[in-house]
Amino acid sequence: MSKQRIVEIENVSYKYEREWVVQDVNLTIEEGQFLGLVGPNGSGKSTLIKLMLGLVKPRRGSIRLFGQSIKQFKNWQEVGFVSQKANSFNSGFPATVLEVVMSGLVSRIGMFKFFNRKHRDKAIQALKTVGMEQFSNENIGDLSGGQQQRVFIARALVSDPSLLILDEPTVGVDAEHVTEFYNLLGRLNKEEGITLLMVTHDIGTITEHATHVVCMNKTVHFHGASEEYEEFSEQDLNRLYGHSVHQLTHNHEHHGVNPHD
Ligand code: ADP
Repeated sequence: MSKQRIVEIENVSYKYEREWVVQDVNLTIEEGQFLGLVGPNGSGKSTLIKLMLGLVKPRRGSIRLFGQSIKQFKNWQEVGFVSQKANSFNSGFPATVLEVVMSGLVSRIGMFKFFNRKHRDKAIQALKTVGMEQFSNENIGDLSGGQQQRVFIARALVSDPSLLILDEPTVGVDAEHVTEFYNLLGRLNKEEGITLLMVTHDIGTITEHATHVVCMNKTVHFHGASEEYEEFSEQDLNRLYGHSVHQLTHNHEHHGVNPHD
């Protein structure tokens, strides 16, 4: 049986003003994949995510989520999102960890209704999944960047999404906690069966964790399994990034084989 197509992007282009920032993008994400989305600054990664979340409409092309046109799509609880700025609350922000996680249920229960015991239990369960339940009553602003990031993942998980989208989640997380963070994502992917899409600059590390990699600069230059990405030559990457990426790619061997798309 073939896997469900979670996201299908067909010939999508988008511009804010005059210049196309996303151009003719074709991308399919299948159930169970852990996809790393990499590309230089300003290459349209966040815009592509905004398109998938229905925050902006494609100027050209079409998007389907869970087999349904995004124009009609209503099951937004299926899609969890953790934004880039999610881990930068200042200390003193007046919300507890549990409240932040429960706020992920607002779209489900509707505004002006009250949270009940069931919602609270779901939030605690989500905090357990990310290993943060002991911080439930702490103030969100008192936690470290990495801890806040986990809380925001719990907030995204509280509505039981099948797809979790993360925009540069490792920014602001200490290097020593990044591996732990990837392990958490790996567990969500393999054990909870959640399809993951993660935007990252960690082009050296992502292949160790993601099943697939997409390399974009306005359009998709490479899409394939992580092992194939290792074959994507350093020269190809340099061309894409416009400068040397040697230091970013750790010590992976690149064999100068042409990528296929
Ligand atoms: P990335 O996430 O890869 O860094 P973005 O999708 O944020 O790239 O940006 C792609 C391009 O679109 C950039 O040139 C950026 O300046 C531009 N851009 C992003 N957001 C807006 C906006 N709200 N209005 C106008 N231009 C924007």
